Amino acid sequence: MSEDYPKRQLLKLSGEALVSAACPDTIDAVVLAQMAEDIAGAVSDLGIELGIVVGGGNIWRGDRGAGRGIERSSSDAMGMLATVINALALQDAIERIGQPTRVMTAVQMAQVAEPYIRRRAIRHLEKGRVIILAGGMGNPYFTTDTSAALRAAEIGAEILLKGTHSGVDGVYSADPREDPSAVRYARLSFMDLVNRDLRVMDMTAVTFCKDNNLPVLVFEVSPPGNLRKALSGDEIGTLVK
Ligand code: UDP
Repeated sequence: MSEDYPKRQLLKLSGEALVSAACPDTIDAVVLAQMAEDIAGAVSDLGIELGIVVGGGNIWRGDRGAGRGIERSSSDAMGMLATVINALALQDAIERIGQPTRVMTAVQMAQVAEPYIRRRAIRHLEKGRVIILAGGMGNPYFTTDTSAALRAAEIGAEILLKGTHSGVDGVYSADPREDPSAVRYARLSFMDLVNRDLRVMDMTAVTFCKDNNLPVLVFEVSPPGNLRKALSGDEIGTLVK
């Protein structure tokens, strides 16, 4: 384990990280429990402050509805609500094993979650609570990648961990599932991502991270133990800075 891992970190989890082949439609409780175990274990062992921005793509994505004739802003609102469903599921699973959390949402719904207020979010982190940030940014036409970048900057996270679920552990020169000679990049610059058109994250988010000097670690989140390696600064995935 690296001695020098960042003490405040933001993890972006796609909704699809919560599904499995056995349960492809919404949330697989077994996958969720494993994820929660990894998160709670790493937070308590490493003593880090962790924010999580969760996506909603396992339930709904704005462009899905837009393609079916639903007005884009309404469809995006549906996507934002989907992220709240995932956040509540994640909260339940993490608290079940004793790690305190708070769900904070950019879309106000006082009965189920706190509103996102930056200073309150930081206070929760200082008190050792994992904050789960739902509702994206509360605005249509954005993705939770961009929300994750924004929240990471707002809470002063030292790094954004972008967990993928593609079966590929980082950024490769070609798709390693198709090309056995593909090599993993251990490090890349933001300009490399743009110039080589490497689509590991929404381009709006990439630009934001570049402009705000926020390093991004792209790594495969699903294999047990990977999340802890990422949070502890071990050599894993691809570091973009
Ligand atoms: N969304 C939005 N504004 C935001 C964040 C998300 O409108 O600030 C909507 C958008 O429709 C998006 C959906 O919520 O497709 C789910 O988020 P995302 O696609 O980023 O989820 P992920 O792919 O990470 O599971």
